Amino acid sequence: MTNPEDMGPGYYWVKFCGEWTVGEYDPGSHYPWTLVGSDEIYMEWDMEEIGERVERREREEREGMKKPDLNKPAFALFPEMKQKIEQGLCSWCGKPVGEFRDELSQHEYGISGFCQQCQDETFEEVKDEGEG
Ligand SMILES: [Zn+2]
Repeated sequence: MTNPEDMGPGYYWVKFCGEWTVGEYDPGSHYPWTLVGSDEIYMEWDMEEIGERVERREREEREGMKKPDLNKPAFALFPEMKQKIEQGLCSWCGKPVGEFRDELSQHEYGISGFCQQCQDETFEEVKDEGEG
């Protein structure tokens, strides 16, 4: 059993409707779980159990990932965001994405499609709310 608080984005074994399958976990999303082979998205508590991490596609992601996975259900919900990303633009502000400060920011871009500036603004807001 994996503690959800320790979990980064990636693939994990999950028990769903009594069966073990692999789910993709995206902690930044409101519906963080996508089951592999399905387009359905789920909340944290829809998973009966969470198992070991699956080291799948990780190398691919680290070496070559420039753009978010446009097959994600989130982008089906927001076709405008998808279009911007396809054009190399930030999914939020619509400006060219440009450079990222570090690997973490690059990785975040792979999830949300936010440019560095939008990431900075988003994360600052969250931080301010958390510490009062
Ligand atoms: Zn932006």
